[in-house]
Amino acid sequence: MTDNIVEKQLFTSFKAVERLLLGPGPTTIHPRVLQALSQPTLGHLDPDVIRMMDEIKAMLRIAFDTKNEHTFLVSAPGSIGMECSFVNLVEAGDKVVICTNGYFGDRMKQVAERAGAEVIAVTSKWGKPIDPQDLEAALKNHVDTKIVGFVSSETSTGVRNDTKALCAVAKANGCLTIVDAVTTLGAIEFHVDDWQVDVAYSCSQKGLGSVPGLSPITFSEAAIDKIKRRTKPVSSWFLDINNVWPYWGSFEKRAYHHTAPVNSFYAVHESLVMLMEEGMEVSWSRHTENHRYFAMKMQEIGMEFFVAEAYRLPQLNTVVLKAGMDDAALRKRLLLEFGIEVGAGLGAGFGKLWRIGLMGYGSNKENIDRLMKALGEVL
Ligand SMILES: *Cc1c(COP(=O)(O)O)cnc(C)c1O
Repeated sequence: MTDNIVEKQLFTSFKAVERLLLGPGPTTIHPRVLQALSQPTLGHLDPDVIRMMDEIKAMLRIAFDTKNEHTFLVSAPGSIGMECSFVNLVEAGDKVVICTNGYFGDRMKQVAERAGAEVIAVTSKWGKPIDPQDLEAALKNHVDTKIVGFVSSETSTGVRNDTKALCAVAKANGCLTIVDAVTTLGAIEFHVDDWQVDVAYSCSQKGLGSVPGLSPITFSEAAIDKIKRRTKPVSSWFLDINNVWPYWGSFEKRAYHHTAPVNSFYAVHESLVMLMEEGMEVSWSRHTENHRYFAMKMQEIGMEFFVAEAYRLPQLNTVVLKAGMDDAALRKRLLLEFGIEVGAGLGAGFGKLWRIGLMGYGSNKENIDRLMKALGEVL
């Protein structure tokens, strides 16, 4: 009895404070998206929800620039988009080349291995892009390779890998391609069909600027064909596209697969509507322009970028901490005194780099000015 009274005093509603999120994701969310999220929950088979899901598919096809029928949301974060790609495409013993030049490429390698692949790694230094000639050489050494996977925007380093060139090499060598577009979608140019990407996955909370927890994904006909020809079923029941597609597929035959997080669907729908209103090209150039503005401001205070301009990501800026800058203490001050979150370095970059995300709704001049003003005070 007394215990219950104590508990009632201890727990009160959670109140999230306003923060400016300028890390590697989630990014600050537009009020329109938060408003969409807080609408009444509908059943996951409600005809209105099904109509909305069809619009999500249509808008994702525009965002990915693809005609792929199998384009939908995995009900889980970007990491599960990665799992979903590999568990569906890889059969035990398949030879898979993973190009890796950072934390997420390394993760992809592990995911491919756990899906049963025999993995050949093609590596490049952190901070440098993958050389398509290195991929070519690996594929010539391993002519039985079935799949090539890599990360288009390596969020751990801020490096842009050349998706078009890497996919061209993979396809010329008879491979399917799996491309991580988690930090790419909506922020920089990306063309699934033109660039010969067979499977691409992303997330809701970076370039799309929505709430975390969903993973847009798209499968080409060639990818679906490999899945159809599997001799053993996909090891994950939940992620098996044969199981989930009846939920996302045709309008008439919609069938229960899992209880979809419909409020999060509303939020992604709204962020996609906003992206469509802005236009893909305009969104890409906004990210580039704001990056240039930010780079100019950083130069003014003598901060350097980790990555050379030619393959630098505009939406994820890795800046090198100067001698004497106390990483953790400075980030703490930015957060607690100025309400601004910037990202710490990841893996080998920890303590040496900051990762400053200017993505989605967060990519604008006001945010940069606010950050520069705060930096001016803490440095
Ligand atoms: C963020 C990120 C992921 C993981 O996405 P989550 O939504 O955090 O699960 C995967 N790959 C890359 C390149 C990322 O930046």
